[in-house]
Amino acid sequence: MTFRQLPPDLVATLRETVSLGVITGAGVSAESGIQTYRGQGGLYDDEAEGDRTVEALSAPTLAADPDRTWGVVAHLARQTIQAKPNPAHQALVAMEATLERFILLTQNVDGLHRLAGTRNMIDIHGDVLETRCSSCAFHGDLSVEDLQALTGTPRCPQCACGLRPHVVLFGEMLPEAKIRRLHEEFYERPPEVVLIAGTSAIFPYIAEPVLLAAQAGHPTIEVNPEPTPLSDRVRWSLRGKAGEIFPQIAAALASRA
Ligand code: NAD
Ligand code: ZN
Repeated sequence: MTFRQLPPDLVATLRETVSLGVITGAGVSAESGIQTYRGQGGLYDDEAEGDRTVEALSAPTLAADPDRTWGVVAHLARQTIQAKPNPAHQALVAMEATLERFILLTQNVDGLHRLAGTRNMIDIHGDVLETRCSSCAFHGDLSVEDLQALTGTPRCPQCACGLRPHVVLFGEMLPEAKIRRLHEEFYERPPEVVLIAGTSAIFPYIAEPVLLAAQAGHPTIEVNPEPTPLSDRVRWSLRGKAGEIFPQIAAALASRA
């Protein structure tokens, strides 16, 4: 394989890499047909529509008008349930198989990394195809049939209270156990190389591991068709699609001397 889109000094670095931390966002699933929030073709191309979507996916709206939150969640879940992993997801599975240490932090709620076969991962925002009861301990999954039938708020099969999506909504705290793992994996024993892709990197807990690695002099890579606030901070900012560039990164890692 030729590394068409990779600079030669990056290929040389990857050939010596044994531990890698990867951070992904919605752009990595764009080639699976799932809309991003921001960026070209994203759900928020129309800013006013974007503001309404954020409001619908927030903790106060879930409390005041759960049917409205579920309207947007059902739309995202229907896109997700039809989607399949793409070459970017598959390349990450190949990277994990090649390396001594691999950790993936994803903001995506589509479950595609797990479906592709990634093992060591933190899905910090949860999974849009999972539900939990707002009053009892019930935890469930949404099936194609559930989604076809869904209008308004689904009910708990155990106590008949409203179910909520098992995701972190705007204005909610991140789950403590996942934050702890993020700290262990990215701060207590930082990976040699950090790769970030498909995210506008607006959340501090997403950008910080990259900034920390860059400050410590570790190699850092960004893959995104558009510039982001991190583009000037990483050593290699590669403009392109994750589905095209990740397979080349995986091949360079696998060609370890
Ligand atoms: P975002 O929508 O803010 O940004 C997407 C980024 O991906 C943009 O910078 C865009 O330029 C880039 N991009 C588009 N196509 C790409 C491709 N083929 N390869 C690489 N990059 C590409 O995404 P975000 O930063 O993840 O947004 C944060 C929130 O959006 C998170 O809370 C996440 O849970 C939620 N979200 C998740 C999904 C999903 O699970 N698939 C979808 C939409 C939003
Ligand atoms: Zn219940």
